[in-house]
Amino acid sequence: MIDTHAHIHFPQFDEDREEVIKECEDKLTAVITVGCDLEDSLKAIDVAHKGKNIYASVGIHPHEAKNYSEKDYERLLEIAKSSPKVVAVGEAGLDFYRNLSPKEKQYEVFEMQVEAARELNLPIIVHTRNAAKEMAEFIRTKFNGVRGVIHCFSGERELLEAALDAGLYISYAGPVTYPKNSALRETLRFVPSSRLLIETDCPYLAPQPVRGKRNKPVFVAHTALTIAKELGLNFTDIVRITTINAKRLFNLPLSDAEKKERLAYPVGNRLYLNLSTDCPCNCKFCFRGSEDFILGYNLNLKGEHVAEEYMYRVKNPGIYEEVVFCGYGEPFTRFEDMKKVLNWLKKMGAKRIRVNTCGLGYLITGKEDILDELKGLVDSFSVSLNASSPEEYYRVVRPSFGKGSWESALKFIKDAKEKGFKVTITAVSYPGFDEESFKKLAETLNVDYRIRPFKRFKKWEE
Ligand code: SF4
Repeated sequence: MIDTHAHIHFPQFDEDREEVIKECEDKLTAVITVGCDLEDSLKAIDVAHKGKNIYASVGIHPHEAKNYSEKDYERLLEIAKSSPKVVAVGEAGLDFYRNLSPKEKQYEVFEMQVEAARELNLPIIVHTRNAAKEMAEFIRTKFNGVRGVIHCFSGERELLEAALDAGLYISYAGPVTYPKNSALRETLRFVPSSRLLIETDCPYLAPQPVRGKRNKPVFVAHTALTIAKELGLNFTDIVRITTINAKRLFNLPLSDAEKKERLAYPVGNRLYLNLSTDCPCNCKFCFRGSEDFILGYNLNLKGEHVAEEYMYRVKNPGIYEEVVFCGYGEPFTRFEDMKKVLNWLKKMGAKRIRVNTCGLGYLITGKEDILDELKGLVDSFSVSLNASSPEEYYRVVRPSFGKGSWESALKFIKDAKEKGFKVTITAVSYPGFDEESFKKLAETLNVDYRIRPFKRFKKWEE
């Protein structure tokens, strides 16, 4: 677990800092202690040197912007370069809640730090309060490739969209655990797993179970637990996801296990099998090509792996509630290997087996009897149809087979239903998605449906 935003160099930790650092070393992967002005950043670096997994960020908080100007650019660079423990610039941003610095000063000093982050090739840690609209606009116009994170995100949708479009990460702190903040928790569903971070912002904002106490880095576990519950994942899933994300953003080394391409990957009580990176579709909302890491696993396989390798990786399928063929691409592109693995899974006592597919199995394999071949091996199909009309389908799903694909997908769905498989059609609620028509289509086909929230990986192009 990584606390991506702490202030353990603040005076609130003067009494027991050594103990807190020891606890961070014992229980956390890393902690980033974040500077709020240049003097404070030097203290952050000093504390970072006291713990082997403590890192520092150097920057000027918008409250302190009144004491700085563009002239401090070189000094900021110099401090950032003074230690290998410096992993970010910030916290920097806009705070129109307390307005402790004039707005124009806040903009000036923020822009200067964005340029410093660009120059240093470091991510920037962004603070924003009562300035979501202005921050969204700033990100859209000034970031231009600079990496970073919205720290202590407080739930504004316009800001979330601008930040995700710009490739930024979203970090949740203690407030996501507060009972009344259900709207903030709701936003978690729209954040791609590969952009999610957690933090404490300690000594402030202690999470619910320890609310009122001085916050400290290990309390980040409470935030992880709340997020896991909200997303229907296990605590270990959130720990894995957010640790890998933090390492990737702040350039901390990934372990060999973390870097490894995943053929089989457990999430919650299910096991997922990643057979292929190929897909005949090119859905407008798809993450393929934008992100290798999904749910804390590197799914972008560099080559094909034989069926036996999957069997070796899975070992004991019976311990999972369900085994799902779902990865970076379309499982029917490896139909023969999929069948081998399916036969083995059945023999080894897999409880339930689902195949997530684009529904173009007939066109991919060129065969008409694929469903008969899968009888007794597969329990259910989840078909990513993502449209309720051929026009919508060709505009959004963009299958490489071109004309006839829509009809082929519908035939697959109807045939699967007729042959006794459980079938669900799925869609992502991308901008302009016609939800009502999709529900009607599911009714007509007499199958279940599931609509997943649209997560922005990059700017949505009409
Ligand atoms: S069908 Fe799935 S894997 Fe293929 S492009 Fe669409 S979303 Fe991506």
